[in-house]
Amino acid sequence: MPINDPELLKIVEARVLNKWVCRKCGALNPPGATKCRRCKSKGTLRPKKAMKAGPKTKGGGGGGGGKK
Ligand SMILES: [Zn+2]
Repeated sequence: MPINDPELLKIVEARVLNKWVCRKCGALNPPGATKCRRCKSKGTLRPKKAMKAGPKTKGGGGGGGGKK
C-alpha cells in the first residue's frame, strides 16, 4: 500500500537509507550491525549514503577544480 503520510514517508526513507552495506559481499545489513549477516565478515560494513540530488548538474564542466 502506498504511503501518503509525508511524515511517515520521511521515516521510511530514513530507514531505507540507514542501511549498512557489506563491502565484501554487498549484502545489506541493519543499522547497528557489527558484522555482515551474509558473509559474517567484521568491519566490512559501510553506511549506505543517499545520493544528493541527481547525477546531473547544470553547467557541469570539468570534474575537479574550478577555483578562481
Ligand atoms: Zn558480507
